[in-house]
Amino acid sequence: MNEITRLAHAHPFLDGRPKRMLIDGKWVEAASGKTFETLNPATGEVLARVAEGDAEDIDRAVEAARRAFDGPWAKMKPYERQKLLLKLAELVDAAFEELAALDTLDMGAPVSRTGANRQRAVGMLRYYAGQAVAIHGETIENSLPGEYVSFTLKEPVGVVGAIIPWNAPLSSSIWKLGPVLATGCTVVLKPAEEAPLTPLRLGELCLEAGVPPGVVNVVPGFGETAGAALAAHRGVDEVAFTGSHVTGQKIVQASAGNLKRVSLELGGKSPDVVFADADLDAAAPGAGMAVFANSGQICSAGTRLFVERKVYDEFTARVADYGRSLKVGDGRDPATQVGPLVSAEQLDRVTGYLSIGRQEGARPLSGGERLTEGALSKGYFVPPTVFANVRDDMRIAQEEIFGPVISAIPFDDIEEVITRANATTYGLGSGVWTRDVSKAHRLARGIRAGSVWINCYQAMDPAVPFGGYKMSGYGREGGKQHVEEYLNVKSVWIRTA
Ligand code: NAD
Repeated sequence: MNEITRLAHAHPFLDGRPKRMLIDGKWVEAASGKTFETLNPATGEVLARVAEGDAEDIDRAVEAARRAFDGPWAKMKPYERQKLLLKLAELVDAAFEELAALDTLDMGAPVSRTGANRQRAVGMLRYYAGQAVAIHGETIENSLPGEYVSFTLKEPVGVVGAIIPWNAPLSSSIWKLGPVLATGCTVVLKPAEEAPLTPLRLGELCLEAGVPPGVVNVVPGFGETAGAALAAHRGVDEVAFTGSHVTGQKIVQASAGNLKRVSLELGGKSPDVVFADADLDAAAPGAGMAVFANSGQICSAGTRLFVERKVYDEFTARVADYGRSLKVGDGRDPATQVGPLVSAEQLDRVTGYLSIGRQEGARPLSGGERLTEGALSKGYFVPPTVFANVRDDMRIAQEEIFGPVISAIPFDDIEEVITRANATTYGLGSGVWTRDVSKAHRLARGIRAGSVWINCYQAMDPAVPFGGYKMSGYGREGGKQHVEEYLNVKSVWIRTA
């Protein structure tokens, strides 16, 4: 049995029956009875039918989450929530191959990528297990005349509506569930319609771990229906959203009804700056994978590649060669390094930008066209593409493409490149490749983005915050700050005399 067949058989979860939604600890059909198909983007085959939640299901799930929040869950001690998170970590660890394979099947990322994220997924849950017993307020000295004690309590925000995209279903789900369980909130998780399977399987593991009914609810469905209902719901205290900035703007508007808290992890057009003094042997694959990983479907991909002019031709040729050396194919094949795009819609978007780039006068050094040979014709494959001759004002240098497309732009000096790196509405990731420590420091300070990676790209750890400046959003995921996003601060005053 080859690897592809083995993986295809690895999922008792995909048993041919429609997948139901998780509300109040039970697996239920949509109130409307409707279902939708989820496809394998490498082959176009239907993987499963999934219950299609809408406003009525969101109502039911929010009510269940509220009951759970007001019930015994609120009285659970931090160490009990910690135990639950550790149990969930253990179950995710045990089921990891299956979860990774579900990610691969549902959104296309190669198993060489999804299967390498064990520490990310399991480590994240363990990190939040630690945070569950580290929540504390402060005693604050005050200057009032008389005798007063003042201190703060940290309390869970309440019912969280978590809305996630499709580009990393397992880690996006865990990034929402971890802090919810650590703080004592409850959640209604709305997976992306393109990739609902892993979040649903994770829902099963939550129940197996002993998460009480209603604490974690998973309602798949479409953005304009289920997502919009969740964002607008007055029973939701906070929306934690990951997705595009356009949807983020809608979420903010929808949240105004009850002025719920909002955290936004949005898109990017991140600069990756390569100086001539860098270790170019490391920088070429580094800058390549900063965009080609996950077929460019990563919010912080370093898609604006600024290269110092004196090495521009040589370096862009090396990145293009590197891109050509990557194996594009079905993500189930362990040799695959670049999988398909997630959907026909995403394929249209990316190939549309390939045409726009050419029309604007950019020149593809590698890739540049959809792949249609043999079995690839059934899926949504675009090869690693490097555009040269790019100017800052081109659309391919300004707009998020969300595909394996690098826009390579020459620069001459450090002040100029800082200004140009910042000339975007986004501010999520950024990279710097140099051997000069003072240049590295100047860019680390000068770039207006939530992460700066120096001589690396996309390094992530559960303990290190991640998030955006400007239109890449607000709020942080990862680190202690993430936990704070799910807590209210209450000040308590006691007059003691
Ligand atoms: P999207 O905004 O179209 O969808 C994201 C989620 O929002 C989906 O679950 C969708 O169903 C839901 N949604 C859509 N319309 C909605 C509405 N009106 N109200 C409520 N929910 C709605 O984004 P996408 O195409 O799925 O994902 C790609 C985008 O996500 C890119 O812009 C990428 O940069 C961004 N992203 C950001 C991060 C981050 O951490 N900053 C991580 C991953 C992806």
